Amino acid sequence: MALGCVPAQGGWNDEELARRHPALARDTEQRLIDAAPYFAPAEAALQLFLCRWSRRAPIGVSLPADASAGEQRALRVALAAWEGAGLGLRFTELSSRPAQIEIDFWQAERDPFTVSGAGNTVADCRLTGGLSRESASEPGAPAVAAELSYASIYLLREGVNTVGESVPYTEAQLAGAALHELGHALGFPGHVARGDSIMVRQLEVIVRHGAAVLDGHHFDDANLSALYALPSGSVVGRRAVDAGRLSVLWRIGERALEEGWQGPYVRVGERTAQLHWRGPEGQLAVLLERDWVGALRRPESFDLLPNRVAVSLLVGTGLDRN
Ligand SMILES: [Zn+2]
Repeated sequence: MALGCVPAQGGWNDEELARRHPALARDTEQRLIDAAPYFAPAEAALQLFLCRWSRRAPIGVSLPADASAGEQRALRVALAAWEGAGLGLRFTELSSRPAQIEIDFWQAERDPFTVSGAGNTVADCRLTGGLSRESASEPGAPAVAAELSYASIYLLREGVNTVGESVPYTEAQLAGAALHELGHALGFPGHVARGDSIMVRQLEVIVRHGAAVLDGHHFDDANLSALYALPSGSVVGRRAVDAGRLSVLWRIGERALEEGWQGPYVRVGERTAQLHWRGPEGQLAVLLERDWVGALRRPESFDLLPNRVAVSLLVGTGLDRN
């Protein structure tokens, strides 16, 4: 793999990938190894894996309700560019929600989080086999049953210049930001350390790609092509963890199944990772690893923090047993 002298950013090594997919490992353009891995529990271990969308059906996408004609054009050009990028994906624009990929403009007064750079994206990977000790994959399995099921993208409408003034984004900036955030939404968590990829952090590279697709140039990306050359759920490594640390996972997995909650979904962020389930009234039971980057390097520090909904789901276990 094209590591050169730039260390891998994803927290895993490519031995397993190289063994199973030698052609991919020889592809010097791609830096899949910079992608943060998703995780699924196995007996006393975490399986690290990559997740992508299925090609079975077009992916439903909703555009921001308040997008101007120019903004709509930039977003549609970005979607069309990814459709033409050789991943085998198709999108279908939906006029109502929920959609599988929801695109919005971030608004300070409405959205209680901050967005910087090109925007902000979460992409949820569903463990399609549910989560229980019985259904957990064998520690040596080549793949876990998982595919992306939902992504939310927040884009910025304006940037700030060097003297602190707000400056509306150009169509090229918006198209570039949309291309980049869609790259995250399609299953690439994290950024590549170098190259001409849309998945770098450098805004000038991202804007250049945006301008190019608006001009009708062909677009593709070696990193996403590499991801879509693999089966979804491909295991790229594992970490031994204390079985006791996973017991909360099995318990909540069982409870969620009993209560008919949907999930689990795995989400990987810039620093954190989480598993969550969705209840019948939209409640979200979350188990959060606050330092996923650190836990990949020091698996003994892996620790899942439940939110209040998760605790009440778990407390239900205790009551059932009485
Ligand atoms: Zn990014």
